[in-house]
Amino acid sequence: MAWDFETEPEFQEQLDWMREFIDTEIVPLEPILDELPRDEWNAVRDHLRQKVKDRGLWGAFLDPKLGGQGFGQLKLALMSEQIGRSMVSMVIFGVQAPDSGNMELLANGATDEQKERWLWPNLRGEITSAFALTEPFNAGADPTKISTSAFLDGDEWVLNGHKWFITNASSADITLVFAETNPEHRPHKHASIIVVPAGTPGMDVVRDVGTMSHPKPEYGRPGGHAEVVFTDCRVPADHLIGNPGDGFVLAQKRLGGGRIHHSMRWLGQAQRSFEIMCERAVSRESHGKLLAQHQMIQDYVALSHMELESARLVCFQTAWKMDRHGASAVRAELGMVKALTSKTVLAVLDRTIQVCGALGYSSDLPVEGWYRGTRFGPIGDGPDELHKSVLARTLLKGYKPVEGWPSEHIPSRRPAAEAKWASLKAEAGVA
Ligand SMILES: Cc1cc2nc3c(=O)[nH]c(=O)nc-3n(C[C@H](O)[C@H](O)[C@H](O)COP(=O)(O)OP(=O)(O)OC[C@H]3O[C@@H](n4cnc5c(N)ncnc54)[C@H](O)[C@@H]3O)c2cc1C
Repeated sequence: MAWDFETEPEFQEQLDWMREFIDTEIVPLEPILDELPRDEWNAVRDHLRQKVKDRGLWGAFLDPKLGGQGFGQLKLALMSEQIGRSMVSMVIFGVQAPDSGNMELLANGATDEQKERWLWPNLRGEITSAFALTEPFNAGADPTKISTSAFLDGDEWVLNGHKWFITNASSADITLVFAETNPEHRPHKHASIIVVPAGTPGMDVVRDVGTMSHPKPEYGRPGGHAEVVFTDCRVPADHLIGNPGDGFVLAQKRLGGGRIHHSMRWLGQAQRSFEIMCERAVSRESHGKLLAQHQMIQDYVALSHMELESARLVCFQTAWKMDRHGASAVRAELGMVKALTSKTVLAVLDRTIQVCGALGYSSDLPVEGWYRGTRFGPIGDGPDELHKSVLARTLLKGYKPVEGWPSEHIPSRRPAAEAKWASLKAEAGVA
């Protein structure tokens, strides 16, 4: 097996361009981003997007046969790390959740006509989309149990149900709704994905829910997480993606490489946080020496670097394996990547806050905001507990139970050791 940790020079040039572009065009805007007039921002955003498109880096995550660039997961991981330096870059590079996952879903399940209507406009950035699975009264971690239902009435689907935390549902043009259409085929063939355009009668976007990240959300602002009620909401029959009952499988498709991309974006953010920690450590003195000279601070720096490097390598290796063997070969690893990085990033952000003291806790630095935003990491996209459980079960499949003493029990191994020793002595001609 060959191991190569170098990036091809041509691709490294793209990565360098991304780094430069993000650091000079996007990062400087951060202090005023929330205040920019929406229409002006949209115009500037489109201008920046065009530069990304001209460079061939727009919407890079899709498979080439689906209209993407065919970078593969390893390159996408490297790109995602750059994008994570400033999360707003996601909308500039056309990789923002939930659109990216929705596009993968549509690419995999939609008919040509549906792709014309929703996928390509979404990919071109002309429309935005939301994905509605989670419900207030069912555990979102377990999509085998949902209460939202849809039934076919003539040539229309009729949806009823209650969703929440639906990112962008209050601003998106379409929402892909995960609804039960085939209760007789629970647990995994019971649900379908149905596209509901914004403004469809019976779809009530009640509010954007306040979160740690945005305690007082502005209704309808992109990035909000909406509560949505469907009451006899009717859409044409051809708004079903795939076949009835395909929802579960299609929903899985939107998460494959996405977990690596999320994770690498988090690591990009954590790396920037690490740089803030180190700069502060070498700049501020306490008790007669620089923070950087206190051993506990050195421990924070070293530990953060070690954890970031470890998580990066796990991401890269999983991406590499996925490129070679496909998503199904790395199912458990994808969960591992997500569970490992979500914790790593929070640990690094937390240490940065600690090293920066009151300043770190304040909104004069971006880290507290990143921490609040990223705290959803261990919860969203399947809670970490679930991913760890899948990983553990996968690993445990490789083990067989033994009767009595464990295989490594030293006293029990003694007779075999003595027999081996006797045979090796004989082989070596030792009397
Ligand atoms: C910022 C944000 C954006 C989101 N965007 C969307 C979106 O666009 N669309 C959408 O549909 N949803 C979205 N969600 C919802 C998200 O997917 C769910 O929060 C997640 O799936 C967990 O579901 P839940 O909140 O119902 O928690 P629950 O399922 O109730 O789980 C709560 C806790 O129970 C524990 N737990 C659950 N199951 C297990 C298990 N099997 N083993 C061990 N412990 C377990 C975990 O600690 C977990 O955190 C978003 C959430 C957030 C915070």
